[in-house]
Parts: sequence; structure tokens; C-alpha cells
Amino acid sequence: MSLLVMKFGGTSVGSPERIRAVAARVARAVADGHQCAVIVSAMGHTTDELVGLAAEIAEQPDRREMDALLATGEQIATALVAMALHETGVKAASFTGWQAGIQTEPVHGAARIEAIDASALVSSLHQNVVPVIAGFQGIAQGAVTTLGRGGSDTTAVAVAAALRADRCEIYTDVNGVYTADPRLVQNARKLMEISYEEMLELANLGSQVLHPRAVETAKRNGVALVVRSSFSNEEGTVIRDMATMERLRIVTGVACEKEVARVALLGMTVSHHHLADIFSALAQASVNVDVIVQSVVKTGETDVSFTVSEGDVARAVDICEEFATRLGCQEVKQETGLSKISIVGAGMISNPGVAAHMFQALAAAQADIKMVSTSEIKVSCIIAADSLDAAVQSVHDAFSLAE
Ligand code: ADP
Ligand code: ASP
Ligand code: MG
Repeated sequence: MSLLVMKFGGTSVGSPERIRAVAARVARAVADGHQCAVIVSAMGHTTDELVGLAAEIAEQPDRREMDALLATGEQIATALVAMALHETGVKAASFTGWQAGIQTEPVHGAARIEAIDASALVSSLHQNVVPVIAGFQGIAQGAVTTLGRGGSDTTAVAVAAALRADRCEIYTDVNGVYTADPRLVQNARKLMEISYEEMLELANLGSQVLHPRAVETAKRNGVALVVRSSFSNEEGTVIRDMATMERLRIVTGVACEKEVARVALLGMTVSHHHLADIFSALAQASVNVDVIVQSVVKTGETDVSFTVSEGDVARAVDICEEFATRLGCQEVKQETGLSKISIVGAGMISNPGVAAHMFQALAAAQADIKMVSTSEIKVSCIIAADSLDAAVQSVHDAFSLAE
């Protein structure tokens, strides 16, 4: 008998029929002799609808109340899945994040899980009652918190680690992790396995299929993680340690991120502290900065540009303009309508020429490269959003990822 944590995403619990199908799958696992703990997301587009509802009430909704509102979506799904399990004859009980003992840091909107007091879940399992736990939520100092969009994956992995489960299965609307988003690239190929390191890069670079903190938590705790479809019995993708991989591919996958903006500070007088000053101020205002490029134009003068999400660009420009006069900066410019395309692969470390090959593929798709950033196992390029679709396909083809 093994202990399975099974997580079902929004599409998988999107209607009464789908909830019944989830219950049937869990009931089969129970009949096969497994102990199961179930994590669910909110049904379908519930979370987006709740965000829309809040926007009709307030321009800048209070962050504590926003979390209280968004957490309700997952609670609806837990009760319905528990009821559906009862209909199959399986004993089950719903748990909110706080009933499940999920404690987070006291931050609203994207809190990290700090600890799980799993005693209530353990006692439920001992009584053969399947706990159906609300993903994406926790509690901190008596207030409801949420883990950031897509955060139910992280709840699942953290619960699997706390229960020392044998496996954490992420059931979603695709058959596994693909070489690119199958919605964007028709000939994307399902991967049988991928390393935690590569999956973490892909998730951080925009592959929505897993929440980055879920991969991070799985790697840290050695949780065996599988991504598979809730609509079929096809084998999914196993995420495993790099050391146990049969072969390291040069490029494993392509990821992309939309709604990227660039801010440029032009003609700044060079000083020891200008970068520290600007980026400290941006950090204090919680503006997440991604790619940064600095170039010395003439002796004593420098241009700095960096990317942020489109939602943060107005705040970032305001902050830069405050510094402009003091730093002798001649102009602050912004550009929206950008995207980031990235390739990830553990075998890149020992293979030169990968970036050049990607640049050729982008040139072939007529995508102008505006900025580049690299690490040991990834190369990212900022390009115009309207060239993204062609760029993703071209890069995918250039590295023969469909084969
Ligand atoms: P869930 O609601 O089950 O959490 P998500 O919408 O968060 O599902 O994640 C699944 C989606 O991730 C897929 O429908 C797919 O469009 C997208 N996706 C992006 N990149 C990839 C990839 N490399 N492999 C598989 N799916 C991906
Ligand atoms: N319901 C939340 C969201 O839509 C969390 C999740 O689905 O993982 O982001
Ligand atoms: Mg998701």
C-alpha cells in the first residue's frame, strides 16, 4: 500500500461531470489499496471571476480581503469533490488550508508555506477518510493567505512532503510536460522525464504547467513528482533528480512569457552607486526586475535597461524618474508589447554554440532580439510580442524538439 497525493487543477474539476470523474479516479486508487490525500484547485475560471468581481468594487482591493475572497474558490471545490467521493462509497472529508494545518509567512498574494501541522490529515488517513484539501491557501497570524496564481501545485507537493507520501501526482488538462506549450506549438512532444533543475527553470520562465515553488519544494524534499492527464490513463512525465537521468539533452524545452515591458535610463553619469540606488528603490516598491543590461556609451556615461511585467511598468518608470535628475540621466524610456522566449537544457553547460543557434532561429522568424540573458542551463531573449508565435515554433524546430 502506498500513500498518494493527487492534485486536480481547475479544468479537471471544472464541472459536475468532471468532479464525478475525479472522484471515480480517486475511488479506483483507494480500491487498489492506496491511501490517498486529494488537493483541488477552484473550478474552471472561478479565481479569474473572483478577481474580476473585486475589481468592480475597488481599484486597489485590500490585500487581506483579496486573499479571503480568492480562497473561497478552492473551498467550493473541496466540498463538491468530497460529496462526489461519498457517492462512490468512499469516506472523505473536506479541509480548508487552515484546517489542514498549512501555515504561511504573513504576506498576502504570494505567501510561502512555512510549516504544515499535518496531525489532522494524518488522523483522517488513519480513519480511512480521504482528506480533500483546498490548494492555494494557508493561514498566517489568523488571516487567510494565498500562495500566488497556480499555487495549488505547491500545496500538493508541500502536503506530500509533510505526509512523506510515496508520490505526488499532478492531474491537469495535458498529458504531461511537453517540449513547449502544446497550445502554442502543435508538434510539441511529451517528455517521459525531466530533471527538477530543468523543470524549475521552465516553470520560472513561464511554463504554466507547474508552479515554480512546487518544483522547488519537490527538489528540496525529494518528493517524487508526476504530471499527467486527468482525462486519460496515459503515463505522464516524471520529474526526477538530474543524477538519475538516462541522458542529458542539450535543449529540453522552450518556455515563454508574455506582457513583458522594458525600461531604459539613457545617458546616465557613471557612479559607483547608481545601480544600487535604483534597484534598491525598485525592490522596496516590490517591483520584480528580470533581465538587466548595462552598457557604457561614452566615457563617463552609461545606459541601463531592465525588464518588468507590464503591470509594474508605470511604477518602475515613476521610480526611475525620481532618480533621473540626481543621477544625471537624460531620458527614461519605456517599451511595452514585449515577450520573453527561453530555451532550457541541462546539456547546454558543456555545449558551446547553443545561443548562436537560437539567435539564428529567431532571425529566421524575423524576431528582433532586444535583450539577452543566460545562465548555465538557459538562454532567454526579449523580443516583440507579435513575433512570439513564429519565434517559438522556429526555435522548437531549430533544436529538433519534435523528434
Ligand atoms: P491546472 O489548472 O491543471 O493547474 P494549468 O493551466 O495551470 O492547469 O497548466 C496546464 C497548462 O500549462 C496546459 O494547458 C498548457 O497550455 C500549459 N503549458 C505551458 N507550458 C507547458 C509545457 N511545457 N508542457 C505542458 N503544458 C504547458
Ligand atoms: N485557483 C488558483 C489559480 O487559479 C490556484 C490554482 O489553480 O493553482 O491561480
Ligand atoms: Mg496550474
